[in-house]
Amino acid sequence: MQVGDGLLLRVRVPAGVLPADHARRIAELGDRYGNGSIDLSQRGNLQLRGIAPDGLEAVTEALRAMGYVSGDAESEAVRNVLCSPTAGLDPAALMDVRAVARTLDARLAEDTALRRLPPKFGWLVCGGGIGHLADSSTDVRFDAVDGERFRVALGGTLATAVPLGLCRADDVADVASALGRAFLELRAELPEPPRRMAGLVAGIGTEPFVTRLIASVPLLPPAHAQTSFALTRQADLRSAESGERIKVRGTHVMDVFGVADPPHPNLLPRGEKGSRGGEAPAFLTTAFPFGRLTATALAALASTCTEIRITPWRALILVAPSANAATVASSHGAILSHTDRRLKLTACSGMGGCDVGTTDTHATALAIAERAGPLLDPVRMVHVSGCAKGCAHSAIADVTLTARDGLYDVALNARPGDDSPHTGLSPADAVARVADLLTEESTGA
Ligand code: SF4
Repeated sequence: MQVGDGLLLRVRVPAGVLPADHARRIAELGDRYGNGSIDLSQRGNLQLRGIAPDGLEAVTEALRAMGYVSGDAESEAVRNVLCSPTAGLDPAALMDVRAVARTLDARLAEDTALRRLPPKFGWLVCGGGIGHLADSSTDVRFDAVDGERFRVALGGTLATAVPLGLCRADDVADVASALGRAFLELRAELPEPPRRMAGLVAGIGTEPFVTRLIASVPLLPPAHAQTSFALTRQADLRSAESGERIKVRGTHVMDVFGVADPPHPNLLPRGEKGSRGGEAPAFLTTAFPFGRLTATALAALASTCTEIRITPWRALILVAPSANAATVASSHGAILSHTDRRLKLTACSGMGGCDVGTTDTHATALAIAERAGPLLDPVRMVHVSGCAKGCAHSAIADVTLTARDGLYDVALNARPGDDSPHTGLSPADAVARVADLLTEESTGA
């Protein structure tokens, strides 16, 4: 895909598991053929930026040889599978779902009937535990309910997706294939075919899907009331249709990483048994501002661990990190604590990364974090958008800056492009205005 700084090459990593030697090789490719910038996408992919047109074939071939690029663009597009990034590392998880996610990824790549699915149609395999994907919204989700079965649900987050029933782990690829076909057939019957599963289910319900599944790969009997889902939020969610309870326990890896006191996922013991005493941490969570890191940083991180897990939270999980992993990560700009205010910043590529951008959105956002300091503590999100399109976040943020011809409009509790009383500000003035507004908010002035 052509963007402002050259070609953008997406690297889909099956189950999000990237061996350290592969990470080093990908970093080399990003440096050699691209501009050395790598993005972590919200779909759990790596994106190599600034690939020169004459290097595209070579880098694509190298990635294909490692198994990260499909044989053709159509099958590549449909391999949109999210997998719990702590699978196999987290004793609190119900199931190690890596093998299931890989099998699903391979099925999607080979099932030619599914190549007509809309480009952003997604799938999710969640094993629960601290790396759960409850808040990730997708088209078809498989959430483990125990060590052998998944709850199948359509269109949304764990709380909002409409459940169909249960399926065995061995049947996930078949169920996914049947549901993908059903989506294509059912949407084609509508005058305005929805592009996402949530829209189709809202229009026709789930019964037509269940009917089609019965003919190919039937689901298990409906989930009963005792079925629990290993989630990690202090909430008691209940599916509207089935009455299934969603059990909660623990905390999420992105809410606690870098915290010294338990619960501390970095200190989870290796394997399911044993104490934490004297044991090396099983993994280290490292986030990056705006999900962007350098190829040099990726290579350095790879030298400190055996494997890297790609998350949908613009963070990497280093498996079996060396003693100096945190120091190395920090020296490359990684965020190592959930209290780091840079985690509150969201920004698109802006000028330099997108032809439409007219401001350095990342620099502006970082300047706000620097200037506002503790004023950001009660703020959930500061969004700096390169234009009204709002590619990084189209919804409301506590603070939103929208660029126009090199200047910003600043608004509180707004979407990109919403009306604003503070318009036409230079980047420096916009940063100062945000600090002033947050000061007024904090003092009630
Ligand atoms: S929001 Fe605008 S400037 Fe930013 S990436 Fe999207 S189109 Fe480009």
